[in-house]
Amino acid sequence: DTVPPLRALISVSDKTGLIEFATALAGRGVELLSTGGTAKALRDAGLPVRDVAEVTGFPEMMDGRVKTLHPKVHGGLLALRDNPEHLAAMEAHGIGAIDLLVVNLYPFEATVASGADYDTCIENIDIGGPAMIRAAAKNHAFVAVVVDPEDYADVLAELAANGGTKLAFRQRLARTAYARTAAYDAAVSAWMVQAHDDPAPRRRAFAGVMKQRMRYGENPHQDAAFYVDGSGRPGVATATQHQGKELSYNNINDTDAAFELVAEFAPGDGPACAIIKHANPCGVARGATLLDAYRKAFDCDRTSAFGGIVALNQPLDAATAEEIVKIFTEVVIAPEADEAARAIFATKRNLRLLTTGALPDARAPVTAFKQVAGGFLVQDKDTGQIDPEELRVVTKRAPTSAELADLRFAWTVAKHVKSNAIIYVRDGATVGVGAGQMSRVDSSTMAALKAGRMGTELGLPETPAKGSVVASDAFFPFADGLLAAAEAGATAVIQPGGSVRDDEVIAAADAAGLAMVFTGMRHFRH
Ligand code: 5GP
Repeated sequence: DTVPPLRALISVSDKTGLIEFATALAGRGVELLSTGGTAKALRDAGLPVRDVAEVTGFPEMMDGRVKTLHPKVHGGLLALRDNPEHLAAMEAHGIGAIDLLVVNLYPFEATVASGADYDTCIENIDIGGPAMIRAAAKNHAFVAVVVDPEDYADVLAELAANGGTKLAFRQRLARTAYARTAAYDAAVSAWMVQAHDDPAPRRRAFAGVMKQRMRYGENPHQDAAFYVDGSGRPGVATATQHQGKELSYNNINDTDAAFELVAEFAPGDGPACAIIKHANPCGVARGATLLDAYRKAFDCDRTSAFGGIVALNQPLDAATAEEIVKIFTEVVIAPEADEAARAIFATKRNLRLLTTGALPDARAPVTAFKQVAGGFLVQDKDTGQIDPEELRVVTKRAPTSAELADLRFAWTVAKHVKSNAIIYVRDGATVGVGAGQMSRVDSSTMAALKAGRMGTELGLPETPAKGSVVASDAFFPFADGLLAAAEAGATAVIQPGGSVRDDEVIAAADAAGLAMVFTGMRHFRH
């Protein structure tokens, strides 16, 4: 099953490693065919090469849209070498066999990520390249196909070891090839959904290019990899890592949750910090300074913050960096980090620092999906925002302006907490987070309990929940959850409303002297 390559067609946009690879092939006596730009690069390097245009008898035309789409190329890739009829057709039409295809595609994903205009993106959809790759991969019984410069070395090693390519090796290349063409078309599909402003969920394909193979997944016995979608949305997928070990699966998941949460707070409105553990915030705060925001977030739940992920909405400065390194933190993500801050972090080799250059737009539409047995659930990311004008006061007492500011903050945090979510907030900082409980009253009680414990730890005279406000991600189905919050010391409540027992809940709020507003919007998160 060993095929010694006699003729190779090379047509590459990314010319990384090209000359070295082609030189090695030519050294083995392989005849080289090439398209315009690639042929020029090879010729400039002094390598013998034949133009595809000479083989097909057609010039490259229509701005390169048509270069290799010709039976002399596709016949050479697709012909079964052990089929007499195929061989006769080759003979009759002067088609020469191509045993090795080296193609990498027009950089469509990179073009989109660069923010190029519509027509430029369209022009960067490669047509002839994928056609050749698919043809060669289909005919892997006889043809080897290489789509990634990273595989050049393996091909040369295979040729050196066997004098040709073995079937198992060609099969491996074929799998890689179809993964590439499938991902490529999926990228086009994903871009069109966006560019045509077609709201999800609609018919589309999902694009992703593997960025990182992890040592393991959520647990050590699970294999895992990180795929990026090429959208360029600032975040963990696009971040620059300045120090520390490679990010793990859980790091990436938690860092994403942290950064998406902190991105809700526009830098212009002041510093904000979120600390995440197991995809839930254990502290979120705004502050007069970034240091202040970090300290307030940390003081929500110091125990859980240990080994957490810290996200900042502003450039990391030295004062905040000094404070962060006092405890063990897994990852810090921020738009930037100044020199002094980096120098402080450099002393903590296990701390990973990521910078992204920008915050993601919390309102930009993003398609979110989740796997279920046998399928995917597809939906718009929850980018819901409430208009403060439309908040409905349902109690006798209206919230004060200070309460209202905290209510809105609590509501924003609630969007990022696993349901059932109950968030206590005081002075622009969470003081109790109840997450992921199956009953709302349990979330409410647990958040209050944690606030109380933290009050004791900080040596406060009373629980920080006293005088706080509370947000609930979905309506209170009964008055009990609300009463638990009142008992903990909350003075105001924000929730969607819409329960059949709203009247009961409102009456309980009035009886407890609470102010309550309805948002008319729910923020389930599972
Ligand atoms: P070159 O730099 O050699 O001029 O062009 C190389 C690129 O052209 C490769 O990325 C290859 O996939 C692409 N290509 C090869 N044949 C065709 C074709 O017939 N149509 C289009 N649109 N692209 C092609």
